[in-house]
Amino acid sequence: MFDLLIFGGTVVDGSGAARRQADVGIAGGRILAVGDLSAQPARQRHDAVGRIVCPGFIDVHTHDDRLLLTSPAGPHPKLTQGVTTVVTGNCGISLAPLLSNETPPAPLDLLGADDWRYDRFGDYLDALEAAGPALNAACLVGHSTLRVRHVPDLRRPATAPEAERMARDLADALDAGAFGLSTGLYYPPARAATAEEVIAVGAPLSAAQGLITMHIRDEADAIDDALREALHIGQALGVSTVLSHHKLIGQRNHGRSVNTLAMVDTAALSQPVCMDCYPYNASSTMLLASRVGQSREVLVTWSVGDPSAAGKSLFALARERGCSPESLVEPLSPAGAVYFAMHEDDVRRILGHPLTMVGSDGLAHDAVPHPRLWGTFPRVLGHYARDQRLFSLETAVHKMTGLSARRFGLRDRGLIAQDHAADIVVFDETCIADRATFEQPTAPSAGIDAVFINGQLACAHGHTVNAHAGQVLRRQRSF
Ligand SMILES: [Zn+2]
Repeated sequence: MFDLLIFGGTVVDGSGAARRQADVGIAGGRILAVGDLSAQPARQRHDAVGRIVCPGFIDVHTHDDRLLLTSPAGPHPKLTQGVTTVVTGNCGISLAPLLSNETPPAPLDLLGADDWRYDRFGDYLDALEAAGPALNAACLVGHSTLRVRHVPDLRRPATAPEAERMARDLADALDAGAFGLSTGLYYPPARAATAEEVIAVGAPLSAAQGLITMHIRDEADAIDDALREALHIGQALGVSTVLSHHKLIGQRNHGRSVNTLAMVDTAALSQPVCMDCYPYNASSTMLLASRVGQSREVLVTWSVGDPSAAGKSLFALARERGCSPESLVEPLSPAGAVYFAMHEDDVRRILGHPLTMVGSDGLAHDAVPHPRLWGTFPRVLGHYARDQRLFSLETAVHKMTGLSARRFGLRDRGLIAQDHAADIVVFDETCIADRATFEQPTAPSAGIDAVFINGQLACAHGHTVNAHAGQVLRRQRSF
């Protein structure tokens, strides 16, 4: 007997294969059978007639390290999108391992201010398990976090003994179940790190077959060199490389994704490499003067220096105050911002590339966040697949499920198939849509009926039903 039978729906199984009519039978948190099961007994039945039934979405690029430890009151930014698994610790910044009473330097503060209490990565995973996360979590170790811990002067490369200490922490984290290392060479705490440093720190990845995700050193004028460096690091380590939120910043770089994607295609012939991307032509991170100068508009997402600036245009504030936008960066900091600095053609080209997965890069602790935090996955399905016909619904689902699971080594997730974990989303393809905008960034998405995580109903019509259905996923060693 099934615990749950999702019947009458159209299954898009996450592999990219064409849709088919099928019921899905679940027991013990796993998918037992897929097919015509209508006559079979079940304790509960979920009517999916006229709906798409697909694997739960995997958000491969998140900064949800701290969000996962809490149960937000009201709608959940990820559950309401149909996300069932998140990859945390991206862009070089992870909550662990770091023990500190002080707020570490930006951008680590994007993770929130007061939770730096995990001396070992395994302590964080244990705390997450004890808290009972809302979603499944696959966690990465941040290179910048390791630098803050072991390199007293962040303006220089690590010495050999410092790199050795960072590598030991990484090995310890991989043993505890971390999926790999993330880097953010773009950001101040890691800018002085050389490729050789990253290769030395990442050495334990090779034997463990963990992966490396990279917020590359430059996404603007010097992107070609930055890409070459990232690909070199991945190749030297002999591990799977994920290029984070691939994009082109600044007007004079618009259109260059033709070249960068060709570079990735060439590299993919000789090393495992893929990318993630969010479906917007504006980015968001800490407030940085260099990024302000590359943007046609900048919105402040939070500010300690002037909290009233949150949600306002930096350019309008500068006009009001009779100064340059760049000169406001220091008085507002620490702060975050949304930058309008990409071209839609590059976003479409990158999102449509067969090696591109969907990742939100949302920042859950921003006062006025980028709408990607609440809208990424329904926006790909509604705006880009259905309305713009950038790709089929099957391809869109594959980019947020099967492809992501395979690339991150989530062996029993990302597909509607026998013996896979029962992470499942039921949605209406005619009306699925993101509702979050730059003006209303926390509006929940529309069109998602039900979200099941490990066989349990976690979210129904936008309302959280079970905020603790997730599991801490621990990378399995490949012997
Ligand atoms: Zn990043």
